[in-house]
Amino acid sequence: MAHAKYPLTFSPLDLGFTSLKNRILMGSMHTGLEDIEGGFERIAAFFAERARGGVGMIITGGIAPNHEAGGGGKLSTPQEAAQHSIVTEAVHAAAPDVKIVMQILHAGPLAGTPACVAPSAIRSRIGRFVPNELDADGIEKQLADFANCAVQAKAAGYDGVEIIGSAGYLLSTFLVEKTNTRTDEWGGSFENRMRFPVEVIRRTREGVGNDFILIFRIPAMDMLEGGMSGEEVIQLAQAVEAAGATIISTHFTWHEAQVPTIATMVPRAAFAEVTGRIRKYVRVPMITSNRINMPDVAEQVLGAGHADLVSMARPMLADADLVNKAFEGREDEINTCIACNQACLDHTFTGKLTSCLVNPRACNETLMPVVPAATQRDLAVVGAGPAGLAFAVEAAQRGHKLTIYDAGAEIGGQFNLAKRVPGKEEFHETLRYFSRMIEKLGISLKLNTRVDADMLAAAGHDEVIVATGIRPRTPDMPGIDHPKAVPYIDAILGRKPIGRRVAIMGAGGIGFDVATLITHAGPSAAVDIPTFCREWGVDFVNHPRGGVTGLVPQIEKADREVVILQRRDGAPGKSLGRTTGWTHRLSLVRRGVKMMGGVTYLKIDDDGLHALVNGEPRLFEVDSVIICAGQEPERALYDALVARGMKAKLIGGASEATELDAKRAIAEATELALAS
Ligand code: FAD
Ligand code: NAP
Ligand code: SF4
Repeated sequence: MAHAKYPLTFSPLDLGFTSLKNRILMGSMHTGLEDIEGGFERIAAFFAERARGGVGMIITGGIAPNHEAGGGGKLSTPQEAAQHSIVTEAVHAAAPDVKIVMQILHAGPLAGTPACVAPSAIRSRIGRFVPNELDADGIEKQLADFANCAVQAKAAGYDGVEIIGSAGYLLSTFLVEKTNTRTDEWGGSFENRMRFPVEVIRRTREGVGNDFILIFRIPAMDMLEGGMSGEEVIQLAQAVEAAGATIISTHFTWHEAQVPTIATMVPRAAFAEVTGRIRKYVRVPMITSNRINMPDVAEQVLGAGHADLVSMARPMLADADLVNKAFEGREDEINTCIACNQACLDHTFTGKLTSCLVNPRACNETLMPVVPAATQRDLAVVGAGPAGLAFAVEAAQRGHKLTIYDAGAEIGGQFNLAKRVPGKEEFHETLRYFSRMIEKLGISLKLNTRVDADMLAAAGHDEVIVATGIRPRTPDMPGIDHPKAVPYIDAILGRKPIGRRVAIMGAGGIGFDVATLITHAGPSAAVDIPTFCREWGVDFVNHPRGGVTGLVPQIEKADREVVILQRRDGAPGKSLGRTTGWTHRLSLVRRGVKMMGGVTYLKIDDDGLHALVNGEPRLFEVDSVIICAGQEPERALYDALVARGMKAKLIGGASEATELDAKRAIAEATELALAS
């Protein structure tokens, strides 16, 4: 019988030789676990938890077919296959009806090794080495290695392989003239340029036989100037279908392109219509992806005919049980991926293990088991910011009795400021999740209640968890109390008027967010696909080459002149997220925001902000100076509790304000709750 609310999502998909139980798959993500001691056991636990969570198919992180392909794990020998079987056995044991498919990733010129290879010796803008141009034997070797890798994957117990043919990795570099200048049968016309990816699929199919899932990840819109045209993408899709692909999965952008595709400023399901257009030209099922983070979005995408299957990658880090919760009508309990990239992609690109800001257990399942508490205790949490909320929910799930106190009128702490910033609309979801969990777990919530040590002593809790967060730092300088000086909280909440000419003191995440907020006008591009396309110069409808229009981005902006300042030398914005910082910087530059380092602040007066810039006196003639100069821990309550000899622990900003973010606040809180 069809599912009442999500009939399309929960319909099986017949692939002929096998079937998928529903239309949601977990997309490929690099975890870094392949590279560490005991990593395969951790990957097994990570995927098994998602398999139990109801997903129809899991795609692993990318595995290299040979040394020159780079990447983390490699699979080319039976010994390596034996390690992979730890993963396949765990997933099949956890849920026999869930398919597990291994992604084969040949990074080509992005492989990060001097042995890297490509169709032509052209260094990528983001590559470390000039790749070695493949000769005829080299091409033959790569083709054989792909097929061998897939054969080993089958031996390891995988239900299929996905071959990534996009992102600036090897297969995609054959497809465009910018990286393929060959004049033999592997270059020149598009027919020749697509020969290598098509041959990879043909050889792989030949190697693994017909009863094995073979997914090709196509560069559906590469976002490159002079990239693939819409017609070429369709031609490639039809050719890989004919060569033996079971499913085609759409992938958007090359890593070097300058269009955000998964950051929180990208609207939900923004790219699905591109998949839908290709889908009209092939018979095999198609997967769409990118910013599909809730079941209603998946159902809409399927209902619009944009795809046969929906890939959710990061949302499965955020909540392993997402699919089961949707099936059981418990969507309001989903811990939604907010597309921040802070603990997943930013970690990958800085060599750290992947996890998740809203769910620090992701990829740490074996290290952070959730077990019922040995003794039930009465715990008070002071502060309903991310740290306090995460502690309370995790501790209540283990059986403790919880009371949360917050001075504010709503839960969320600083997330109530963050959610007001255009592009951070998803932060509402985290607050919805916590709200529902407080209700479900019977946590006692006392809002509008500023507590002190006397009140807590009288309440008689067994222990107090102090999550009182931070107070904004107020620099000690003349004029800091001048009417032109505005603390960031007042600016964000609109408690003080902001003039037309503005200097922002401090270029951390909050300085950038404040600049975004005060220069914003019109609809937020994060929730409006046409606005997003105009702001980033993308055309989903006509699919010009690469999908990019080449037009000057059209950005609606407030009539304000803004300058962001920092004391340290160099360009502001270096502390922003590795994979998202550039989008924030670029969109502010496009709004005319100026940025300056090497500033010494002298005073604020009726004329504006007086400073030295690289030692030279300078007056910023502004109407407002917004202070975003970092944070200090709010520890008065903790000190008072300790002074009275009461049992108390500190978490989040209250513990350490330097380099505090929600990732650290939630991780610290979760670890403490699991140990309490
Ligand atoms: P807080 O969020 O500060 O919460 C502390 C709570 O304690 C408050 O609700 C306060 O009312 C309450 N409280 C304090 N004293 C008492 C008392 N005596 N009695 C009762 N209640 C009390 N982080 C990211 O990781 N990514 C982002 O993109 C991001 N964007 C941000 C954007 C903005 C505009 C801002 C302001 C912050 C952003 N942050 C971001 C930072 C993030 O919100 C903080 O790191 C996080 O909220 C810290 O959590 P916390 O629980 O320690 O403290
Ligand atoms: P921050 O990143 O530490 O930045 C504080 C800024 O203030 C810096 O530019 C610092 O640089 C300046 N500063 C420090 N002391 C100062 C002083 N005494 N006088 C003048 N300037 C001073 O902190 P934040 O912007 O307040 O953000 C708080 C946390 O929230 C951050 O750690 C961040 O991770 C998180 N956050 C993240 C995002 C995100 O998108 N990921 C967004 C918002 C916030 P100089 O010393 O060089 O001037
Ligand atoms: Fe999503 Fe952020 Fe978690 Fe990554 S870290 S999975 S983007 S919520």
